[in-house]
Amino acid sequence: MEDCLFCKIIAGDIPSTKVYEDDDFFAFKDINPVAPVHVLVIPKKHIQSIAALTPDDAAVAGKMLFAIQKVAETLGLAQDGYRVVFNTGEKAGQTVHHMHAHILGGKEMAWPGV
Ligand code: 5GP
Ligand code: ZN
Repeated sequence: MEDCLFCKIIAGDIPSTKVYEDDDFFAFKDINPVAPVHVLVIPKKHIQSIAALTPDDAAVAGKMLFAIQKVAETLGLAQDGYRVVFNTGEKAGQTVHHMHAHILGGKEMAWPGV
């Protein structure tokens, strides 16, 4: 996708602090962290959001949870726990329309917190 910020980050056209990459996913530090650890996990395939998933995306959608698990382990969050957020649609706060999981950790978090 030509005009997608996250596609440009995957391509290396926009710099980022990479924390993980495999054939299907890329993970990097959020530029404006809201927790001591704040990393974004994105599929390399441009999918707008969870709302835009189709049955063709079943494999990537499933693998994304394992990518998130691996990134959280790499970040040392597995023991204490972490929060995973998929803002989906503008009213939910999605500002970049390339599906992404926020991994948040490194602090106590209240719930519900919406
Ligand atoms: P959303 O609000 O769509 O759920 O999350 C988008 C996230 O992307 C935000 O937390 C924002 O800080 C992050 N972000 C926006 N632009 C950039 C950028 O150029 N580089 C990085 N690393 N993160 C970005
Ligand atoms: Zn994209």
